[in-house]
Amino acid sequence: MNKVLYTPGPTNVPEDIRKELYKDMIHHRTKNYADLLKSLTKNLSKIFRTEEEVLTLTSSGTGVMEASIVNLFSKGEKVLVINAGYFGERFTKMGEVYGLEVIELKYPWGETYKLEDVEEVIDKNKDLKGIFIQYSETSTGVLHNIKKLGELTKNTDILLTVDVISGLVVNEFEFDKWGIDCAIAGSQKGFLLPPGLAFLALSNKAKKAMEKSNLPKFYFDLKKYYASLEKGQNPWTPAIGLVVGADYSCKKILEQGLENIQAHSYKLRNILEEELTKLGFELFVMDPDARGNTLVSLVNKDIDTEMLKKTLDNEYDFSIAGGQGAYIGKMLRIGTLGELTVEDINKLIEAIKKILR
Ligand SMILES: *Cc1c(COP(=O)(O)O)cnc(C)c1O
Repeated sequence: MNKVLYTPGPTNVPEDIRKELYKDMIHHRTKNYADLLKSLTKNLSKIFRTEEEVLTLTSSGTGVMEASIVNLFSKGEKVLVINAGYFGERFTKMGEVYGLEVIELKYPWGETYKLEDVEEVIDKNKDLKGIFIQYSETSTGVLHNIKKLGELTKNTDILLTVDVISGLVVNEFEFDKWGIDCAIAGSQKGFLLPPGLAFLALSNKAKKAMEKSNLPKFYFDLKKYYASLEKGQNPWTPAIGLVVGADYSCKKILEQGLENIQAHSYKLRNILEEELTKLGFELFVMDPDARGNTLVSLVNKDIDTEMLKKTLDNEYDFSIAGGQGAYIGKMLRIGTLGELTVEDINKLIEAIKKILR
């Protein structure tokens, strides 16, 4: 029997998308491929909600996080990382590896950032060059308010970089309107594709910074990607099959409508929140305004969450995610991405009820 993935990425890959992935291989230095990449690029812009061209890279999400650092900054430059979870921490580690001066605003897991703290860092550091944050922090379920940060950075030299890897598609997102300078996404979350592709958009302000950046890069040198894109090409051999799948997936998302997909995920997460709190779980994100549609994160001190996760997997073929970092074994994370139906969610809740009895 196939596993049902109730995880916040990778997701189940729907049958029609899988069929696209199996299509005959095409060569990437052809007009066929150029047309495909141009179509994908256009559709991605619509999903990112930007007039800018969105680049497609062959890598996991972490690769494109790295690309966002090495392309826009220079050695010793000062940046702020908002670290409220496992993925926020990754930006700090990467920035330090590349010799940036990282100021970190660290928040307890399950909380979002405080705007006054960011304002204070900006006030005190006139040489601040960038702010890094997740939209959906997948390790905690928090959805950070990006619009408010954009208002702070819009008319400054500070670049706002947002990891929307798990946040895109299922949560409202506006690259241009919110004044974002760099946004990065991955194929295996809201796009319902296998892992392996990453997407990146830059504002004009970010493109200017890219011209000056002196950090070492080769595979992820975005100037090469922009230059090849003009010819409908990637600089290196792309994951061609995934690009075919991505173009199909984007078209499908746009046909279904972003708002409808967002409303569906919202509905699924409300059912989970309501039913599982009745069973004694506590929502890990206490502030309702800081919860997103990507996943529901839950804790319950009285039950063995690892046992529950394993039993769901072994006896029901239902995959859910546990905690990360310090929360390994102490949290459950249930993804509300993809084409999960209300019925799928009810089946999961029923299975959890049975196991807890
Ligand atoms: C999944 C995820 C990543 C990392 O992606 P990989 O594909 O595992 O490298 C980064 N940030 C967020 C918020 C994610 O959800």
